[in-house]
Amino acid sequence: MLQPNCSSETYMPKDGAQHLASLQDGRQIFLDGKSVHDHVHHPAFCASIASAARMFDFQSELENQNRMTFVSPKTGERVSRMWQLPTSYDELVERRKALEAWAELSCGFLGRSPDHVASVLSAMYMGRELFGEKQGQAVADYYEYARDNDLYLTYAIISPQANRSRGPSEQADEFLAAGVVDEDAEGISILGAKMLATGIPMANEVMVAAIQPLKPGEEKYSFTVMLSLNAKGVKLLSRKSFEASAVSAFDNPLSSTFDENDSILYLDDVKVPWNRVFVHNDIQLAQAQWYSTPAHVYQNYQCQIRLSVKMRFLLGLARKIAETNGILEIPSVREMLGQMAAEVSMVEGMLEAMEISGIRFGSYFVPNGRRLYSSMVLTQQLYPKFIGHLRELSGGGMIMLPSSVNDFENVEIARLIGKTQCSPVTDAMGRVKLFKLAWVAVGSEFGSRHLQYEMFYAGANMVTRGHAFRTTDWESSTGMVDRFMRTYDLAGRR
Ligand SMILES: Cc1cc2nc3c(=O)[nH]c(=O)nc-3n(C[C@H](O)[C@H](O)[C@H](O)COP(=O)(O)OP(=O)(O)OC[C@H]3O[C@@H](n4cnc5c(N)ncnc54)[C@H](O)[C@@H]3O)c2cc1C
Repeated sequence: MLQPNCSSETYMPKDGAQHLASLQDGRQIFLDGKSVHDHVHHPAFCASIASAARMFDFQSELENQNRMTFVSPKTGERVSRMWQLPTSYDELVERRKALEAWAELSCGFLGRSPDHVASVLSAMYMGRELFGEKQGQAVADYYEYARDNDLYLTYAIISPQANRSRGPSEQADEFLAAGVVDEDAEGISILGAKMLATGIPMANEVMVAAIQPLKPGEEKYSFTVMLSLNAKGVKLLSRKSFEASAVSAFDNPLSSTFDENDSILYLDDVKVPWNRVFVHNDIQLAQAQWYSTPAHVYQNYQCQIRLSVKMRFLLGLARKIAETNGILEIPSVREMLGQMAAEVSMVEGMLEAMEISGIRFGSYFVPNGRRLYSSMVLTQQLYPKFIGHLRELSGGGMIMLPSSVNDFENVEIARLIGKTQCSPVTDAMGRVKLFKLAWVAVGSEFGSRHLQYEMFYAGANMVTRGHAFRTTDWESSTGMVDRFMRTYDLAGRR
């Protein structure tokens, strides 16, 4: 448990140093053929972990505490607003403003910042009765534990791709997808993999669950558990680190510090005590936990908050590129920027609409699901187009760049950079700095991973369109069609 870090009566929220200390837990991350020792200080992860710690520092700064934190009803300590359970529109907006401020610290490039899975868990807590008495208590106890320790949680809820035309029980390996292999009085044991968990190096714990529908006979895959990342048997197979090769912040301003990493999660016969099991052996509950509580809405609402910040940042980048290239006054360029500005405003407007048309869930006030799902469908399609606009505005400017920051140290090269990197509004250094940032955001391996993220983080577009179908009030549309068709007949009489 965290200790209060000031001696007065009021307690300070968790800060970055506390978060860093909490990560030094000996978890097993595999990278580049080796097991990583001390991941917190490893060059593949350390700067991005420091960015996560910076979020906790930000909330603990005195001038930010009211905006970013609230008082835990249990301990009296200040904890992040990510755990707040709004009971009114005003509280929902108050919480959103805190999440927005956090997203601004990474310009929206930390997709699985702590507030994402905190939103899932908070909404499960709102609907904890659904889980039944014993497991509902486990949800409540874990929520309070996570809130009062201001944990950074991530999750892994999708089975590995393998053969997508088949369910987990029909794959060549029965335990390719994580499933329960054993249970006893202490808890359950899990064997197998989940496709991806983002933010593994900077998170404290992981929710492992199933969101893809399961068939009767696939009960062993229907579990929801909370695991410490250093639990025995938890193996984290990291993807390539972009941070590791992003040695210069000037050359790689985003990937050097916001590479949240994505890992395959492998559970090698991991034992989970019952007080960390929310769902077990129940394919209906494995679905209902997302859709009959506000969990799915609340988690993806956080995504839209973060995305609105990221798009605002990318819009700023687009305008600065136009200014730097002296094309801002060209009518077609202004039209393009106007189009992009309209798209950003649409995302912001959808966010406001989710809140204004929010609904009651018991004593809580949660965003409107229908508005959320339409925003998800549209933004999944919008993001690639938006990136396309940025590429179109940039032309070869993102390529016509010095090979690295070292070029500035060579007098001859620096002279030529000064001569060739001209702009009507800035000097050569300013131009290079801006276009390097643009390339990392939209064109680099890091930028490309972000494109994939925005297109898939909540499922393929067919999945989000399915949610839009499910939550639409069809009667209000078809009813109008029926009413109108009743106003005339075969003879054309009205
Ligand atoms: C960068 C990144 C980070 C991620 N982080 C996380 C994380 O932290 N936690 C987590 O749990 N998951 C994470 N994911 C995984 C994410 O949840 C999945 O990518 C997402 O659910 C889509 O599943 P999939 O990738 O298997 O694509 P699929 O579902 O296999 O879809 C890929 C394509 O296959 C076709 N297709 C597949 N099935 C069908 C079908 N039934 N009908 C029609 N067409 C079909 C479609 O063309 C679809 O676009 C992450 C993904 C990415 C890209």
